[in-house]
Amino acid sequence: MGTYVYEVMANVGEAITRNKQMLTDLDAAIGDGDHGINMARGFEAVHSKMQAMEAEIDIGKVMKTVGMTLISSVGGAAGPLYGTAFLRAAGPSQQKTQVDVETAGLMLGAAITGIKERGKAIRGEKTMLDALEPAYDAFMEGAKDGKSLIACLEVACEAAQQGVEYTKTIVATKGRASYLGERSRGHQDPGATSSYIMLKALLEFLRR
Ligand code: ADP
Ligand code: MG
Repeated sequence: MGTYVYEVMANVGEAITRNKQMLTDLDAAIGDGDHGINMARGFEAVHSKMQAMEAEIDIGKVMKTVGMTLISSVGGAAGPLYGTAFLRAAGPSQQKTQVDVETAGLMLGAAITGIKERGKAIRGEKTMLDALEPAYDAFMEGAKDGKSLIACLEVACEAAQQGVEYTKTIVATKGRASYLGERSRGHQDPGATSSYIMLKALLEFLRR
């Protein structure tokens, strides 16, 4: 992440908006069909806030604004969970204008801890954590091997994608999809999918 952190967020928001219908369709199958709508609304609100922050180079400040905006503008489970994730990511990136591998790992780790504390879910419950935790593990493995930020994000994205696939095989035990019990099996989790989309958007931005 270079100087223009708002551009990164704009890119993530565009990716969410592009996939709005797909996320909503996934949620319609096992939830209430609003995940794409929720996420797109949240990132539209983020986009408006970002326009006033174009010159902001403190990544932590931007993360904090994104988190607060998602919490206040998105209904449903995912908004507050992702909002918490960004708020927590603000900790390690406070007063930073560049993000190196170590900081990015700390941000991702803090974000995941926030999601777990807020949502009381663990891996294997068919949530966003089934994309994010494998992504984090792969990222940290890459970091340990001395890989670049982009290379770490590449392995993280691959792991997240596999995590999304894995959600098709398991039963939901958290969130609305858990009401379906066994009938949730066979469906891809919308939140895991949006997590993958966001990581992928970050990677694609950095590759440019
Ligand atoms: P809602 O379920 O309130 O309609 P969304 O449709 O926006 O909210 O988000 C649903 C997604 O939120 C799920 O696909 C799942 O990935 C995620 N989710 C739900 N509950 C939890 C939880 N307790 N911890 C982590 N993620 C969760
Ligand atoms: Mg929903």
